[in-house]
Amino acid sequence: MRCSETDNMIDTFLDGTLAPHLRKEVERHLDTCAGCRQTLERRRRLSVLLQSVDVPPVPRAFADAVMARARRVQASRPACGDAWLQTLFMRVAAAVVLAAGVGAGAFMGVNSQRVPAPTDVGASDTLAGAYNLDTLSDAPEGSVPQAYLVLANRGSR
Ligand SMILES: [Zn+2]
Repeated sequence: MRCSETDNMIDTFLDGTLAPHLRKEVERHLDTCAGCRQTLERRRRLSVLLQSVDVPPVPRAFADAVMARARRVQASRPACGDAWLQTLFMRVAAAVVLAAGVGAGAFMGVNSQRVPAPTDVGASDTLAGAYNLDTLSDAPEGSVPQAYLVLANRGSR
């Protein structure tokens, strides 16, 4: 089993829901791959961290607003009974999404040299320290990056 296959199965491995024969393959790979063992440990710590966080309930008004907007968007689409045109539309949309993804990936690749590489997980007490998230400390109060930093700092070993 390759690292990428192991990585795809690590969450179900941790959940204990991976099929027994795949579980054995993952265990065999973990026995020989320090990188995947490190990934497993990170995911295990993240899982523990996420379980310790109280998730506020989504306000009912939010769900209603999302559904109302979805209905408006669907109603604004031109009626098109031709399945061939719908298929063409979906293919063009998929191509646009793919191009955007490739563009974003290229952009992230160009900018990846500016992002500090994660340090050894074992050398830091928090996820924020391990991933050098201190750069988020300038984020405004109440922003998503600031909330993420607070969460990551709560992940003490
Ligand atoms: Zn591996």
